[in-house]
Amino acid sequence: MLVHICCSVDSHYFLERIQEEYPNEELVGYFYDPNIHPYGEYRLRYLDVEYSCKKLGIKLIEGPYNLETWLKKVKGMEHLPEKGDRCTVCYDDRLETSVKKAIELGHDKFTTTLLISPKKSQEKLEKIGAKLQEETGLEFIFRDYRAGNGTQIQGQIVKEHSLYRQNYCGCLFGLTPQREAQKKVMDEMFNPISNQVLPESIEQRLELYNKRNELEEKGEKYKIIKQRFLNYRLFNGKVAINKQLVPSYFLYYSTINRTKTNGRVEYEKDGICYLNRDEVKVLDIKTFNSLAKTSYNNTKELIFNPLKIEDELKIRDKIINNPYDLSAVIILDEVFEGKFDIELNAITYDDVKEEII
Ligand code: SF4
Repeated sequence: MLVHICCSVDSHYFLERIQEEYPNEELVGYFYDPNIHPYGEYRLRYLDVEYSCKKLGIKLIEGPYNLETWLKKVKGMEHLPEKGDRCTVCYDDRLETSVKKAIELGHDKFTTTLLISPKKSQEKLEKIGAKLQEETGLEFIFRDYRAGNGTQIQGQIVKEHSLYRQNYCGCLFGLTPQREAQKKVMDEMFNPISNQVLPESIEQRLELYNKRNELEEKGEKYKIIKQRFLNYRLFNGKVAINKQLVPSYFLYYSTINRTKTNGRVEYEKDGICYLNRDEVKVLDIKTFNSLAKTSYNNTKELIFNPLKIEDELKIRDKIINNPYDLSAVIILDEVFEGKFDIELNAITYDDVKEEII
């Protein structure tokens, strides 16, 4: 039987139940989900499904990430709500591709873990499955493992195995209204040019779940816990001195009251220049290098190859010596006399992140 898999949260319990019901059946998991945005999230969900299938002793195959074809299929339906027509097309695409794979591999049955997801329409999935069964002759296995206390058991299993519990369905179009309603920054879609791993980003979760896999393999004790913290994202920032744009790097947690300010250096101490407006501090790359014990030749190198956030915070601490400070700290190639025009569009927000202890 080929089992289309959408994510480990849905698949782990579903596969356990299928294994119980079909003890003599060779099960093959098929991860085909081009609907998942961004690609980092897709990798993360695959990583977790791989971990879950390994635990269950189920072979897993990864399908193509044909995002462009998927986008073309849902064109014009981007604005529709979850469980609407866009989702029907999305289920269609995933089941059609899965049944083709099942035929290619010589299976005579197929099913999907989407059936257990509380946010999916079982009715629509059942219809699509029945239609494909009629067209191909492969039996579609419809099971409602949500029934009774299935959802509750599923939740316990997720905790027990420290599975990655994503908090959105998958696509950009479902995520956008969800984050708008929550009045929350859509930080899943931030991916810095530098590849710096931001707090509570998908990349950070990938690091965390890779670490979980390592600990599991070594048989070491661990727990994934949640921590509340102040998160930050920089949308854009730029500096002009005497109307001339200069390369600049904004340290993590740099904010100003509005999005624009201007001023002049009022005071300098130990290479840190204090502007006369909006608590802004500027320093040149040499001063930064001596504080960070680095050897950047210029700010551009720092932009493309920055320190880890934790190390940036240590530099901020050395400069400001106040853990609650949110002043803009800006690094330039050189600091010279003149009028500074600064644009800084950034946001701080309370957030929750997972950590391994
Ligand atoms: S909300 Fe979920 S099911 Fe609907 S189109 Fe997006 S990824 Fe597919």
